[in-house]
Amino acid sequence: MTLPDIRTGLGYDVHRIIPGGKLVLCGVQIPCGFGLDGHSDADVMVHALMDSLLGAAGLPDIGFHFPNTDDRFRGISSIVLLGEVLKLIAAEGFAVMNVDITLISERPKIMPHAPAMKMNVAKSLDVDPSRIGIKATTNEKLGFLGRGEGMAAICSCLIYKK
Ligand code: MG
Repeated sequence: MTLPDIRTGLGYDVHRIIPGGKLVLCGVQIPCGFGLDGHSDADVMVHALMDSLLGAAGLPDIGFHFPNTDDRFRGISSIVLLGEVLKLIAAEGFAVMNVDITLISERPKIMPHAPAMKMNVAKSLDVDPSRIGIKATTNEKLGFLGRGEGMAAICSCLIYKK
């Protein structure tokens, strides 16, 4: 019996919150008076997503492909990098079945932006938006996430060999 080549992946990322600046989550700029520190646009949700896809395909992580020492990636849109990650896994013969991203942060409320976020990710991954999960939870005011010092995101995905 030949089993289908289906792979699961897990990604995690954290970025420091800084006053001012801009907050970009899944390619959507959310006005809230603070932003995330990072070399690219610091889109913490897309970073967790990219690492989950790369991990599922058995490829090295985003730090390997898009090092923060490389000026080409300064301020770059992570949604653009996500398109590059799709190319990397497609080169290994994989396509995306679904992804499920959770943001862990006390604020802001992101669910009003979820449809636009889903659309951006779906477009970059060439799948229907129904295959993209966008969720959020707080850290119950505990630890660095609870104190609003940073934002974290975790993502799982399923990919399959075409
Ligand atoms: Mg990151």
